[in-house]
Amino acid sequence: YIDFKSLRDNVEAVAANCRNRLSKADPHLVARLYEEYVGAQQETDKLRAARNENSGAMKGKLDPEQRAALIERGKQIKEGLEGLEARLEALEAELQREGQRLPNMTHPGACGRRHGSRVASDELAGAPFSTGQSQCHVPIGGEEASAVLATVGQRPAFDFPVKDHLQLGEELDLIDFETGGVVSGAKFYYLRNEAALLELALVNWTMQRVVAAGFTPIITPDLVRESVFEKCGFQPRADNTQIYSVQDSAMCLTGTAEIPLGGVAMDRILAEAQLPLRMAAFGHCFRTEAGAAGSASKGLYRVHQFSKVEMFVVCTPEQSDAVHQQLLDLEVGLFSDLGLHFKVLDMASHDLGAPAYRKYDIEAWMPGMERYGEISSASNCTDYQSRRLNIRYRPAADEAAAEAAAAAGGNGKGGKKKGGGARKVPTQFAHTLNATACAVPRMIVAILENYQQADGTVLIPEVLRPFMMGMEVIRPKK
Ligand code: AMP
Repeated sequence: YIDFKSLRDNVEAVAANCRNRLSKADPHLVARLYEEYVGAQQETDKLRAARNENSGAMKGKLDPEQRAALIERGKQIKEGLEGLEARLEALEAELQREGQRLPNMTHPGACGRRHGSRVASDELAGAPFSTGQSQCHVPIGGEEASAVLATVGQRPAFDFPVKDHLQLGEELDLIDFETGGVVSGAKFYYLRNEAALLELALVNWTMQRVVAAGFTPIITPDLVRESVFEKCGFQPRADNTQIYSVQDSAMCLTGTAEIPLGGVAMDRILAEAQLPLRMAAFGHCFRTEAGAAGSASKGLYRVHQFSKVEMFVVCTPEQSDAVHQQLLDLEVGLFSDLGLHFKVLDMASHDLGAPAYRKYDIEAWMPGMERYGEISSASNCTDYQSRRLNIRYRPAADEAAAEAAAAAGGNGKGGKKKGGGARKVPTQFAHTLNATACAVPRMIVAILENYQQADGTVLIPEVLRPFMMGMEVIRPKK
């Protein structure tokens, strides 16, 4: 369902967008394939019409010579059609393959704010938190070009030497990479004692918050068909893929619950009244993390398997900017209530990934690592995924017209339809958005490092205590 016609008509803009996003997709090739495909389709249609005409002529009264000529012509048409149909099929496959590689377009608009400037925290005083998103466009460039839209909370000050989460994890018997390494491999870990409870507390607390905000709680499958990955804009078998695929099967391990959540509405037509459809899933994420190394990826910061609560919304095009803002507001509320200090970023074009039209990341201060680290990501994918997943909705106005027509026994177009059925209502592609509510290991890094105390213990954030049997402090084990 990619809009190839619009791509062909705007190929230069699409090519500029690909350059801005460092995409290797080739829109000129896609436009050429589309032209060839349309040409082949027209030729096929002509030949099919000629075949029908020829077989129509055969029904008439003919002398043997005329009949033989028509039979011969019929043979030629059949051969021609066979060749054309094979070409059409090959062209369509290539068109789809190349088309799938195209990234989404990027949020345009005039920029009213100097990128890189910070919004003072007092600008955020009072709800709702706002990025002033209607004034800003996506910055073009690499990660360093991303715009800091806001900084929230205070960076904690320590009057003792700070430890990183790995040291704290070892001293407090919380994180065991050694056994993880032996049993599974490098970058696998066991969470123990309070860290195991902390994961469950984070998930439960986050789930309660998002359910209170109107999200349906869901637990998703960890193995998903490769075709669903592709429809969500991921390329499971690409060279630099982060996705684990299961040998001799068409299944892959989910890198994020966004994929099974996208699959929930696949091939469905929703009523506009059902939108926004808000879902929040607890799921496991599996990532090869090919190419990721170095001290920035150490410990729990970058692992092969982790738990995450992910939000996913299906909505109308008119709703998606506001929903994006709501998702960000929710994230800001969650991380503020966990007492973290963080900044909100409008991510630059190189960092968007194929499906996102715009992406807000949040980076929290991690004292042991002495830097900010990404803890969440909220993307508006507009109709990029829904065109591939075939997620549509029926506009309310048309729904009402159809109902009125059905009640009147007509077809809504003035004329009476056989059987008195409602007219076929035009449907539209929905928009999809996804956002991290809680990526557990990075939350554990942030909590251990920010809540450490001089005596080597770690305080448990207040909001999580009711979910940890009232525990207040993580102490060394006897
Ligand atoms: P993404 O789905 O890639 O936007 O990731 C969502 C969130 O998961 C990120 O913002 C990180 O907080 C976290 N995350 C991503 N990759 C990893 C990893 N390999 N290990 C631990 N956490 C991760």
